Amino acid sequence: MGCFPDFVGSDALTARIGDAVRRGRLSHAYLIEGPEGSGKRTFATMIAAAVSCERRGDEGADLPCGACPACKKILSLRSTDVHYLDRGDRASVPVEAVRDLRREMALSPTELDTRFFIIDDADLMTPAAQNALLISLEEPPAGVLILLLATSSDGLLPTVRSRVQTLRLEPVSPDLVTAYLLRVSPEAKKLKAEGGGKLEAVIAAAHGRIGVALEYLTPKREAALLKTRETVAGVIRAAVAGNSYAEICRAVFSLPTKRAELSSHLVPLTEAIRDLVVLKRAPESPLLFYVDRDEAKALSDKADYPRLVRVYDACRDATDAVQANGNVQTVLTSFAVAVSR
Ligand SMILES: [Zn+2]
Repeated sequence: MGCFPDFVGSDALTARIGDAVRRGRLSHAYLIEGPEGSGKRTFATMIAAAVSCERRGDEGADLPCGACPACKKILSLRSTDVHYLDRGDRASVPVEAVRDLRREMALSPTELDTRFFIIDDADLMTPAAQNALLISLEEPPAGVLILLLATSSDGLLPTVRSRVQTLRLEPVSPDLVTAYLLRVSPEAKKLKAEGGGKLEAVIAAAHGRIGVALEYLTPKREAALLKTRETVAGVIRAAVAGNSYAEICRAVFSLPTKRAELSSHLVPLTEAIRDLVVLKRAPESPLLFYVDRDEAKALSDKADYPRLVRVYDACRDATDAVQANGNVQTVLTSFAVAVSR
């Protein structure tokens, strides 16, 4: 039977870890790396369940089985032997929190054979916090498994990185995300029934991260996402069609003028124009923004390659200028000028 059957994607990784669990060959510390919403916490919790699962040695059972008392307790986040630490409202994970956790590691398990210490936002541990954790990674107490979760290992000290094995979660394919959402989310089913590419738009925007897709499926986020996409599509249409400066300005100034909101529009705007550039050279390549390939192809055909690249560069320049605190009105005006040349 399968390993981590309820964890979607990253099949090679889940098979490898499942095999290590069954053979009792897990390392004492892992770093689970993946973008926001890619399922790091879910996977860490499932590893804890797999290690503690009463049917772990049973080749005929799924791992974790999800049904034994240990699995049930861990997967419903009620086990006193699974400890979570994250930064909460703080900008970083402070050294005191790690020292508290270290003291906890010295105690004996209360329910299970192994105790689990899951540190989320591990890349946001202060250097002092990482150094405090280092001795636990070097000399781990018996019966302790440490799982660090991070969007990127870049924020970790080399000494920490060298003492953990890295498990990288890969983005999940759009087909698997779709199948999963239709299985668990009534909102996804509703969007699918409504048609018009709405569910596909949510899935495209999530870029293979199931947690992000589920977040977009709350009605408020969903409406905001669809509105953003509409605005972005309007700017792209005006930009590639070579409209007059006045028309391009009208489209460009429909973008929000608040810095953070503008930033969050410039990401899909850049992805959209990137799609059109890529389609010129590689018609079958995966698209980041458009869900309707024919629509994207028609848009791409409207402009020549140099023009599309010019719009792409204008998007990148606008993104850099917004990040560098440039005046938003000036950024939008420069963008409109660059695009209408
Ligand atoms: Zn079980």
